[in-house]
Amino acid sequence: MQIVSVLIEHPTISLNRPFSYGYNGEKKIVIGERVLVPFNNRDLIGYVIDVELTTRSVEELEDEKGFRVLMVKQVIDSKPLLSLELMELSQQVADYYIAPKISVLQAMLPPTLRPASSSLKQPKIAYEDYLVFIRDEEKLSPKQKEILLLIKENSPVKKREIKSPTIIKKLLDLDLIKIEKKEKIRFSIPDEKTVVAPPLTVDQNQVIDEFCKSDDRVFLLEGITGSGKTEVYLALAERTLKTGKNVLMLVPEIALTPMMVAHFVSRYHQDVAVLHSELTPAEKYDEYRRIAEGKVRIVVGVRSAIFAPLSNIGLIILDEEHVESYKQDTLPFYHAREVAIMRAMPLKAKVLLGSATPSLESRARALKGVYHLLQLKQRINKRELPVTEIVDLMDANNLYPQSIIFSKQLVAELKTVIERHEQAILLINRRGYATYVSCRQCGYVFRCPQDDMVLTYHRSDKLLKCHHCDYVEELPAVCPQCGSKHLWQTGFGTERVEDEIHKFFPKVRTLRLDSDTSKVRSQVGKIVKSFANHEADILIGTQMIAKGHDFPLVTLVGVILADMGLYYPSYRSAEQTFQLITQAVGRSGRKDRPGKAIIQTNMPGHYAIVLGSKQDYASFFATEMKIRKLSNDSPFSFEMIISLLSKNAEVLDEAIMQLASDMKNAIKEFGEVLGPTTPFYNREREYYRRILIIKHRNYFRIRPIIAKLVFPLAANSKFQVKIDVDSFEI
Ligand code: ADP
Ligand code: ZN
Repeated sequence: MQIVSVLIEHPTISLNRPFSYGYNGEKKIVIGERVLVPFNNRDLIGYVIDVELTTRSVEELEDEKGFRVLMVKQVIDSKPLLSLELMELSQQVADYYIAPKISVLQAMLPPTLRPASSSLKQPKIAYEDYLVFIRDEEKLSPKQKEILLLIKENSPVKKREIKSPTIIKKLLDLDLIKIEKKEKIRFSIPDEKTVVAPPLTVDQNQVIDEFCKSDDRVFLLEGITGSGKTEVYLALAERTLKTGKNVLMLVPEIALTPMMVAHFVSRYHQDVAVLHSELTPAEKYDEYRRIAEGKVRIVVGVRSAIFAPLSNIGLIILDEEHVESYKQDTLPFYHAREVAIMRAMPLKAKVLLGSATPSLESRARALKGVYHLLQLKQRINKRELPVTEIVDLMDANNLYPQSIIFSKQLVAELKTVIERHEQAILLINRRGYATYVSCRQCGYVFRCPQDDMVLTYHRSDKLLKCHHCDYVEELPAVCPQCGSKHLWQTGFGTERVEDEIHKFFPKVRTLRLDSDTSKVRSQVGKIVKSFANHEADILIGTQMIAKGHDFPLVTLVGVILADMGLYYPSYRSAEQTFQLITQAVGRSGRKDRPGKAIIQTNMPGHYAIVLGSKQDYASFFATEMKIRKLSNDSPFSFEMIISLLSKNAEVLDEAIMQLASDMKNAIKEFGEVLGPTTPFYNREREYYRRILIIKHRNYFRIRPIIAKLVFPLAANSKFQVKIDVDSFEI
């Protein structure tokens, strides 16, 4: 008989330990396969993490152990889902992030990883369902309206691209939409014409040589915008492939994948697989299998692709390494950069981190020699950096008449761009129309009942939406508190910017890219391609558009309100503002035409804005490091956030006070305990949330203390505990 140790997939289990089951079947179970097992009178899926062979019978075993041995009901997989390499990595990640191992395994696998054996038998589906819009309807719930509008705007749209099956069913029942069948197109990465690599510049060659000759493992490539970092990635990938090893290429967000994929596909065609969130679960599963079966040599993807089942990795590249989306903000709270290094070490692979604006943490490590620093200091062909102008919005003379958003300078530059048939990018760090809606009579502000965040007004569907969770409601005609009709929309977002543009330039063609427009899968790629093909003159978007893109016709970048992020209560806000401005300005004038950038702000003298507009990374790094040192913030100390959640606020407050005091006593000189406090995001559905912040310099001293004090709370069903090691939240 085989005895297997199994981690059970069950959300309410905070216990991070395996359970044993017996198996009498023929098959030899292998670590990494999934099994169906009985647990508390239900059948649940478990991941096998250990297998032991025994000659004893079930009865003998039960006698020996003193409890009933339950049996595996079914072995789901015919081959392990995860290679031994990934199983070992999962343990390392779970240990470092003090996370339940099951949460790591779940982060590693595509969401609906169906049983490999049964999916092989499945007949190939030849047709698939499209949703076609029929008519509007007033009497709908806000959520239903939102989805109906989404379908209307994209009609006909693949049914599986809209993520709300119950609402779709309702809309079908009401005859507002209908289903049409069309022949199914299997996901395949669009092939690209073969591109021959351009001869590399002297600078590029020097960086590549230094990388190849060095025995160091982790490299930071600091190269200003337009310095040709992508070509360096491609050249290093080429060399790695030639040695017989494979390449993992990460980009920080979905908007950047189509471009990077096109670069790699134009050279390596069928050898490339892509993993990102725009793929449907079925597509992801297909790509995952292609990778696991060794059919590709390069994987391009977002954060979770760091766990791609690619074997024999020789090089892992993280482009735009400073971007925060590399850090998962839910369990297990991992950072792709740290995982990349963990993964590369045993494989003797190299890691390349690239950015025009490296995170202070990475740059500080490079300064200390922990990472090997490589630099590209000039734009390709010594192209000039864009000419930038900072416009002071506090000076009323600068405002364009009848606009609350646009300065005279920006409108004038836009006019020039449109006349010359060039393109412009307008960056605004907030989607929606108005920031918030309040009552002028009594001051009531519309908030989300689920998590208490301020709701944002979206004009296209006339709904108030929570940008933190998925809550939506209709904007009522009167204030729910005092009945006044004077509801006031304050602030502005991407939608309003688009509106004003059309007021000033009625004929101009605009595109908008924010997380609203990217709600429909595959939309991001379409918008980016469409803009690249000059099907629009102006692209308006949130920070999604600021990074990485290389649009040759863009000669103007406008940052609508550069100080917006500076009001955010985080010590990282200056760094983020600097990065955003540098990256945004860097989108302008990348090919043959010189670029311009207009930066509108209420704080024209702020160092993050001044240095960002000059792309002066070195000065920013020096200034900001001094400030961080004085306040003892990262990278001079590390922060961990321990969140305690409970449905009962009183019980929660008592427990967190106790934990804070125990922690303060235990940690002493190894760190500092801040809190307990009620954080910015203080509710998760019916759960209240309190946090402790631990600032420390030595994680390995802190870790055992955390385990001793926090694990007992995690085992208590009254609480949920989440530990965010190396947190970005404050
Ligand atoms: P970065 O990622 O550093 O901002 P890119 O890699 O996008 O810069 O390169 C900027 C531009 O220069 C791109 O249009 C790219 O095609 C071009 N380029 C890069 N390397 C070379 C080269 N060796 N010769 C000619 N053009 C190049
Ligand atoms: Zn909410």
